[in-house]
Amino acid sequence: MLNLILFGPPGSGKGTQASKLVDKYSLLHISTGDLFRYNMKNDTPLGIEAKSYIEKGDLVPDSVTINMLKAKVNENSDVPGYIFDGFPRTIAQAEALDNFLAKKDLAVSGLLALDVPDEELIKRLLERGKDSGRADDQDENIIANRIETYNNETAPVFGFYEKQKRANKVDGVGSIEEIFERLCAMIFWMKR
Ligand code: AMP
Repeated sequence: MLNLILFGPPGSGKGTQASKLVDKYSLLHISTGDLFRYNMKNDTPLGIEAKSYIEKGDLVPDSVTINMLKAKVNENSDVPGYIFDGFPRTIAQAEALDNFLAKKDLAVSGLLALDVPDEELIKRLLERGKDSGRADDQDENIIANRIETYNNETAPVFGFYEKQKRANKVDGVGSIEEIFERLCAMIFWMKR
């Protein structure tokens, strides 16, 4: 099974690249951000709880996020692998993911981190906010908080997988196709 973590700050292109990787490797795409947005749109109790955090650009608490992720994996066990997009975002989530997969005799094959400078992220997020309708992409203060949260709470997750020799950095600046080729080359080496 190929289980990938697509990692990187908000606006680094995780969603765009995840959908291309899904087509190529027939993996199930699990985006915790998309799952939260679906729940918010449908006013579920989970969506109502997540909304107060998301609209400020803060992380949703680990317990809520981890349970949602586990439920999604458990509902879709018969797949060739998973792409986790936007998860794990804290060390506690990374540990929970490793333990959860281990109980199923599975493991994270590798983490692919998209490397993009902050100025480029802000530009991309504001551009996306024009059409996406996402309130968290339209306000520079919320964007700044999301990037700060990433640097403080999420970036250490790279080190967590680096210690296990499963973390890989990919240059996330260039055309969608160029970045996709870089990711595929990395996956090729990972699968050997
Ligand atoms: P994203 O679409 O991945 O940028 O996520 C949008 C928002 O959802 C984030 O700014 C967080 O508030 C929340 N979120 C998504 N994934 C997670 C996660 N793994 N842990 C905590 N909060 C998350």
